[in-house]
Amino acid sequence: MINKKINQLIIYGLEHNLLKEDDKYYAVNRILTILNLKKFNWEEIESTNFSEIIQGIIDFALKNKIITHDSITERDAFEARIVDCLIPRPSELNKIFRNYYKKAPRYATDFLHKFSIDTNYIKVNRIKKNIQYKYQGKYADLILAINLSKPEKDPMDIKKQNQDNSKYPICPLCMENVGSYQTPSLAPRSNHRVVSISLDNEKDAWGIQYSPYAYFNEHMIVLRKEHSDMYVNEKTFSELIDFINKFPHYLIGSNAGLPIVGGSILSHHHFQGGRFDFPIESARVIKKYKKNRVNIEVLDWPMATIRFSGNNENRILDMVNQVYQYWQTYTNEEIMVFAKTNEEHNTVTPIVKLNGSNYNFYMILRNNYTTKEFPYGLFHTKPERFHIKKENIGLIEVMGMAILPGRLMEELELIKDVLNQEKKISDDDLLLKHSKWIEELQSKNINEDIDIYLRDDIGRIFENMLEDANVFKFGDINNFLDFVEKAIY
Ligand SMILES: [Zn+2]
Repeated sequence: MINKKINQLIIYGLEHNLLKEDDKYYAVNRILTILNLKKFNWEEIESTNFSEIIQGIIDFALKNKIITHDSITERDAFEARIVDCLIPRPSELNKIFRNYYKKAPRYATDFLHKFSIDTNYIKVNRIKKNIQYKYQGKYADLILAINLSKPEKDPMDIKKQNQDNSKYPICPLCMENVGSYQTPSLAPRSNHRVVSISLDNEKDAWGIQYSPYAYFNEHMIVLRKEHSDMYVNEKTFSELIDFINKFPHYLIGSNAGLPIVGGSILSHHHFQGGRFDFPIESARVIKKYKKNRVNIEVLDWPMATIRFSGNNENRILDMVNQVYQYWQTYTNEEIMVFAKTNEEHNTVTPIVKLNGSNYNFYMILRNNYTTKEFPYGLFHTKPERFHIKKENIGLIEVMGMAILPGRLMEELELIKDVLNQEKKISDDDLLLKHSKWIEELQSKNINEDIDIYLRDDIGRIFENMLEDANVFKFGDINNFLDFVEKAIY
């Protein structure tokens, strides 16, 4: 039985180009060692789907006490270790990637993306279970995604996590993860590979990998090899533009570099990109300016967004830097924008994508000022909306795609039971945080399909969250236009 599974796995590896004919004996022997087996017979056999093969091998390992806990974490870690026996070493993978890249950047990313799926590093079967739908919002059709595979984090925990430098690897983005067997807090990485790239004249200082959570098509992580703090400044903007020069078929962006308004890992400089059209790209234009042959557009978007476009990267960068510098010191007490108190508060979320031969550079103004009343941030989701999502409004949300916690799936079912009068709010602790929302829903006469109604209402709440993060929300559009006009002249 196990002999058959190993045969099938080897055929799978050969058929998906993970393994070369010359390496198959070597791969078999590595697998035998892990499984404590002494012999192996080649069988004339057809391969089957990956999941069936690998689950059979994992079951064998459990039965024979090679692994001891039948948990998803342990199974995943062991799976990655077996897959690692089939696949090239990092340097070989780099070579293959470069050969494709010479033909066309698109071939290279297609190869790496397919490799990440075939090795089950991107767990497509699990991602398929995530829910994704559109909400027709005021500004654009927003995308709502309920993610079942990634745990929800409290912004305060994120702050703490970013300060712990004693772990090995220090963080999930570190190069030390490549080939590493699981650690309790990190996902399995035995089959993890990172491909080297150069950005902004720093040769091979960067690595690319696909996100195992795949929030959108070809969701890529671009990371600095060295573990060092995120920065969002003039250098970042050059790095982003250079990435687009090298991978013109992708979009690329960085989370803001400050806590609360940034992403979940501020301790390791990285970007996120992919091949996807985000809602922000279809935003209407409120006002258009032109300066030094760069178009500057103020967008009708729930967060303060400026789009710079033109075909000359240096002109774009000059204008972007000018506005960024102006924003860094911009204070307007009347509308509660403070550039600095004890620490800096103004930053931006930058995103770049090509539109034909034109660069489109999106700059979203951010501020992480907190008050006694709003310890999570004045320009953060209002606490009354935390029952849907408490996490930072990061790069992906800014672009109009909500990544909502998986817990909502179960909670929505319970909420439906309450609305159908089959349950009371007090029946389940999970319902408590939603009580105000449920009472609001109960007071309405909902005639349409309840599932659709709830999904739309979550869309509306997400749109409100983005508005909460708008740095000009205490003023009006004239404050924003006034800022832009002063910044560009
Ligand atoms: Zn790191």
